[in-house]
This record gives sequence, structure tokens and C-alpha cells, in this order.
Amino acid sequence: PFDVLILGAGPAGASAAIYAARKGLRTGLIADRFGGQVMDTAGIENFISVQETEGPKLSAALEAHVRQYDVQIIASQRGAKLIPASEPEWLHEIVLESGVSLRSKTVILATGARWRQLGVPGEEEYRNKGVAYCPHCDGPFYKGKRVAVTGGGNSGVEAAIDLAGIVSHVTLLQRGPHLKADKVLQDKLLSLKNVTVLREALTTRVEGNGETVSGLTYRGGDGLEHHVELEGVFVQIGLLPNTDWLKDSLELTAYGEVVIDDHCRTSVPGVFAAGDATTVPYKQIVVATGEGAKASLAAFDYLIRMPAQ
Ligand code: FAD
Repeated sequence: PFDVLILGAGPAGASAAIYAARKGLRTGLIADRFGGQVMDTAGIENFISVQETEGPKLSAALEAHVRQYDVQIIASQRGAKLIPASEPEWLHEIVLESGVSLRSKTVILATGARWRQLGVPGEEEYRNKGVAYCPHCDGPFYKGKRVAVTGGGNSGVEAAIDLAGIVSHVTLLQRGPHLKADKVLQDKLLSLKNVTVLREALTTRVEGNGETVSGLTYRGGDGLEHHVELEGVFVQIGLLPNTDWLKDSLELTAYGEVVIDDHCRTSVPGVFAAGDATTVPYKQIVVATGEGAKASLAAFDYLIRMPAQ
């Protein structure tokens, strides 16, 4: 059996694997795809100490760093079921999608998340070419330009307020008649001069010139299609944790995030979680790597307290 079995090889999982191996623990890493969401990213300028990089480059660096250590990499596999140990000193079981079962004294869940997509023409084609999902990451790329934010919940309204300080103009599109964000956020948004809020505005198409985004079409409350010229579209309609397969095994929030404490402990002793799949606030690479390190150190603390066998 493993001492530590890590699921997911994004920034959180890679960091957890390195920290676990450096403690001399028998470490397994179920690596569906190295880099995780980082593989889908174009420019990255906020991974501290790396001024500028690209997703595939950072993913390759994460993989190379993990491979420097004695980590058993189980490639192209995903976890399908977690069967928690019924006694603290017994082993947890992970059943892979292939049907194979693996056992480990501790488990670190680092399966990440994915952004909910609009599912309209142009969105996929212009992803990273004007279609963005993360204002903290991509906001500065749109300095002085015109952007839209789709989604009037807390994350959409927060994104619009954030972007209004960087870009020249923000159009916020809310599908229904009312914004769903907290009142204080709505008040702040409506006080900003370079923001237009469109209600009952259903985004139907992202347009581009073949290279980058040039506009967006929405159907208004009048039933007609309207066009807005702009350079960027931030999609803010939800982040979906990759945790469906865990719902019978441990505590998740209503949004599917694995509930963790400040030591990355889940509701099951010996099972830890890190990164975008969890309740940790702010989903960022630098946060996920820090959380992965924390989860492994917490697993180590747990292991040294286990009764000798
Ligand atoms: P992930 O990166 O999501 O990795 C999780 C991994 O687990 C994936 O490989 C997934 O396939 C795998 N997995 C899923 N289910 C299972 C399973 N059942 N079993 C095993 N493995 C599984 N952040 C920044 O800091 N700066 C940026 O510039 C930036 N730009 C971004 C641009 C885009 C387009 C996107 C989508 C995100 C961006 N982010 C950025 C956010 C950042 O990528 C994430 O916060 C970070 O990757 C989270 O790391 P993670 O390891 O928790 O999860």
C-alpha cells in the first residue's frame, strides 16, 4: 500500500507529490493529465517568481519536477470511488475508472475544477483569444479595452467591479431580470461610470475576426438580437469542482467543493484535499501549489501519529 495516494496532477497534486516524496513517503500520483487546467491556459504572469510563462510550458515543468522524485505515477487514470477506511489505522481504498483498486494510508484529493461554459458559437473557437474565465488571471491583458462579463451572480459582479478598474468599459449581461449578487456588490457595481448592466440579456454568440474576439450578440427582453463591439468576454457562470464521484464518501458543499479545514483535512480522517476542488478561497495556481504542500505536510503529521504496525 501507499503512504500517500494523490488524485490529480494539476498544480495542487504535483506540489503534494513533491512534498510527500521529500518526506520519504511511499507516494502514488494518479495523473489523468499533468498540469490540469494549466494546460488550457495561454499566458501566465502571476505565478510568483516566474515573470511570464505559458500553460504547456508550466505543465511540463511541473511534470519534470515531480519526475525528479521517487513518485509512482499512475498515468491516464482517474479515481471513480473512494472507500474510506472504517477504522483510523486501516487503509483507504481508491477504485479507478479501469476497475483497479489501490490502497493507501492517506489520500490527497486534488482533482480540480472546470469553468461552466456558455455553450454558444464562438466560445470554444476564441477561448484564450478573447474568451476568458478568470479575471485575476487575464484582467490585465485587457487594459484599456472593452469587455463583457456574462453572469450576474457574485462572481460575475465581482469580476465586473474588478475589471472596471482596469479596462475602458464593462458590459455585464444577466440572463434573468435580476442580478443575483449580494446587495453591497450590486450597489458598488451600479455606482461605476464605465459599467453598463443589461438584464434579460441572453448571450447567443461570441464573434471574432478569425484571430480574436470582436463582439458579442445577445437576445434581449424584447426578443431581438443585439450586438456589442468589444475585445473580451469573461464567462462567470460558475466553477464546477471535479468531485461528483466523491459525494457518497465525504462532506461536500452544495456547490460540490470538498470541505476542508486550515490543514486541508476533510471530514474523513486520513483523507486530505487541496486546490480548486476544495472550499479554499481563490482558485489560483499559486494558491493550489501552496495548498498541495500543506495537504502533504498534514498527511505526514497524520502518518507519524498512526500506531506502529
Ligand atoms: P486542476 O488544475 O483542475 O487539476 C486537477 C487535475 O485532476 C486535472 O488534471 C484533472 O483532469 C484531474 N482529475 C479530475 N478528476 C479526476 C479524478 N476523478 N481522478 C483523478 N484525476 C482527476 N490561475 C492562475 O494563477 N493564473 C492564471 O493565469 C490562470 N489562468 C487560467 C486560465 C484558464 C483558461 C483556466 C481554466 C484557469 C486559469 N487559472 C489561472 C486557474 C488555475 O489553472 C487553477 O486554479 C489551478 O490549475 C488549480 O489547480 P488544481 O491542481 O487544484 O486543479
